[in-house]
Amino acid sequence: MRRETHRGIGMTSERTRERLLERLFGAGITDGKVLEAIRRVPRHLFVDEALASRAYEDIALPIGHGQTISQPYVVALMTQTLYSGTQMDRVLEIGTGSGYQTAILATLTDEVLTVERILSLHRQVRNRLYDLGYRNIKYRHGDGLEGWSEHAPYDAILAAAATNEVPDRLLAQLKIGGRMVLPIGGRKLQKLLLIERTSEGFDQQDVESVNFVPLLSGKV
Ligand code: SAH
Repeated sequence: MRRETHRGIGMTSERTRERLLERLFGAGITDGKVLEAIRRVPRHLFVDEALASRAYEDIALPIGHGQTISQPYVVALMTQTLYSGTQMDRVLEIGTGSGYQTAILATLTDEVLTVERILSLHRQVRNRLYDLGYRNIKYRHGDGLEGWSEHAPYDAILAAAATNEVPDRLLAQLKIGGRMVLPIGGRKLQKLLLIERTSEGFDQQDVESVNFVPLLSGKV
């Protein structure tokens, strides 16, 4: 086990973690399995040590490369939106980032496939989640706009970066009956959309306003 897993975050960590769960519940995250996943995944191990004491505040935090670990509420909301009413055996995530959302999904599903365009984040997360004991995740360094067709179709697809339009390649990799959540819009104003694939086509609904980093094409 790596030193990181033993990193202390002070006497208040249990209380601050409980407070976060209460806050999420109050904000409408009522799915017990989602709350339990948030309780179990140690968010302080997904940020730089200097920020660990703020890891259980309901805020996004920088993870380097101009990227952020998503706000816990947004991770919980996206997970709950995907999860309700769907059997999720295999989930595709676009934008691994810190791997926090990946870990939450991996506690709730059989298999998670995650794609990240920034090589150093991809490598760092692969090591981090392996050290934390996750064995049901596949990692790809690549452009998530392409999806990951070798393992398609997916029960669910989650994108953690915003585009102006829903990428066709991702829609094509969704199972009939499957769900996709993603932020759609420009740099400032975005809507979280829920898309469900039916035998006739795609149904779409707005979930709420969100603020994500942009989905960029190509890998670096
Ligand atoms: N949910 C993540 C946050 C992800 S931030 C967490 O909690 O840590 C969004 C991530 O999407 C960034 O790491 C960014 O590099 C990545 N990204 C942006 N465009 C992408 C693309 N086309 N393919 C794959 N990853 C992309």
